[in-house]
Amino acid sequence: MEKITNYINGEYCEPLSGMWIDNYNPSVGEVYGKIANSNEADVKKAYKAAKAAFPQWSNTTIEERSRILLRIASLIEENLDKLAHAEAEDNGKPLSLAKAVDIPRASSNFRFFGNAITQFSSEAHESVGLNTMNFTLRQPIGVVGCISPWNLPLYLFTWKVAPAIAAGNTVVAKPSEVTPKTAFLLGEILTEAGLPKGVLNIVHGTGPSAGQAIVAHPNIKAISFTGGTKTGEHIARTAAPMFKKLSLELGGKNPNLIFADCDYETMLEVTVRSSFANQGQICLCGSRIFVERPIYEKFKTHFVARVKDLKVGNPFDAETRIGALVSKPHMEKVQSYIKIATEEGGKILYGGNEVTVEGSEKGYYLQPTVIEVYDDQCRVNQEEIFGPVVTLMPFDTEEEALSMANSVPYGLSSTLWTSNIDRTMRVSRKLEAGIVWVNTWLNRDLRTPFGGVKASGVGREGGFEALRFFTEPKNVCIKY
Ligand code: NAD
Repeated sequence: MEKITNYINGEYCEPLSGMWIDNYNPSVGEVYGKIANSNEADVKKAYKAAKAAFPQWSNTTIEERSRILLRIASLIEENLDKLAHAEAEDNGKPLSLAKAVDIPRASSNFRFFGNAITQFSSEAHESVGLNTMNFTLRQPIGVVGCISPWNLPLYLFTWKVAPAIAAGNTVVAKPSEVTPKTAFLLGEILTEAGLPKGVLNIVHGTGPSAGQAIVAHPNIKAISFTGGTKTGEHIARTAAPMFKKLSLELGGKNPNLIFADCDYETMLEVTVRSSFANQGQICLCGSRIFVERPIYEKFKTHFVARVKDLKVGNPFDAETRIGALVSKPHMEKVQSYIKIATEEGGKILYGGNEVTVEGSEKGYYLQPTVIEVYDDQCRVNQEEIFGPVVTLMPFDTEEEALSMANSVPYGLSSTLWTSNIDRTMRVSRKLEAGIVWVNTWLNRDLRTPFGGVKASGVGREGGFEALRFFTEPKNVCIKY
């Protein structure tokens, strides 16, 4: 049975903990491997390797760091098929999606930060008339921790580790124990690319065991975390008394505001994607759809018709648009919300049921589900479901739409569909979110700040924001 082992000091190794957990293939509902369940001893070992690698790596020239990151990017591209296959098997997402989005983006993350670091510079402030010169060094922090979730496994893992090492840090990183396979395979690529031993150490295991040991380690000085809001709260509670630098990318309940003056066809096509891509398991999916009343009934009919056409199936079937949910407990959580929706008086316009896929009968498949709700405060409209479920509700005025969009605890992203430039500006300014997409969705320029407000997190990733997070500014003031 395949074993997912740690990658520490440039070598694969079994966990000191001696503990293992099962690795499930969600598309067939079967265990297909074992994952190291690392504990404090493993994290200490990874920390030791990272600490030993830091003096040299932090003094490695920018050109050399960049060269290695670009080499990792190319090797990810060269291994596209193998990595995409592993991602689909581990996560249940359609192979076509892993090939088109997840793995190319993992490569882009290394390429982007390999290039960005060559443009990152110190600032200088001359205090004119005072004979004083200030310059601000941007020094790497030391050993940092990166913890990522299961929904975009290699994509989000590399989104953290690439800027961390580009900036000269050494890293102890943990991917989700639900989908560890591609981060495991990355180890081989790091070795082949010539990344010095100990610069990036990958430990596997559950949150309470391996994750907690990283966050609680007194000398891991910064934590970059993406995952659920509850976990983020717990991490903040552990890390804050040690004054660790924290970047928290958490849950969302993103609104999709559709005005009658939008480009209807484009909106319809993109809204199907923004609702159900990756089985709705993207933190940026628009799970609450609000539609201006004059086009509400028309939208409802067209949207449901398009959703019915999305083929639910095995991730390796080329026709599949909706693959398997990531795990049985997750599928049960999503189903519990569909039940809550009906108890709360919501009307299921389409979906709601499990799907039996021929040849994969034990896999975790659900129909894409569209629910009409009558009160935006109901639980399915307020709580993150993180699955193939969206709600629909009409609105009459811009104020009402904004008020419903903002009245959730979360504030990650939002999507606005309108051709009115004044409304675009007014609504964009008032939406409580870190990201507003207008007439588009998941349109990413890696230089832009990425992150949320309210319960969706603290801090921003992307571009120089990430390089700033992974460095400590030190001002040097010289009187002459
Ligand atoms: P999760 O919080 O359960 O787990 C995320 C990671 O944290 C995993 O690696 C897990 O092992 C680890 N972890 C769990 N408990 C821990 C602890 N006590 N200490 C340290 N680490 C711990 O989240 P998930 O279920 O894997 O992912 C889904 C969530 O992630 C959703 O809420 C989604 O919105 C969020 N998400 C947010 C973004 C974003 O950019 N804001 C992106 C993707 C996913």
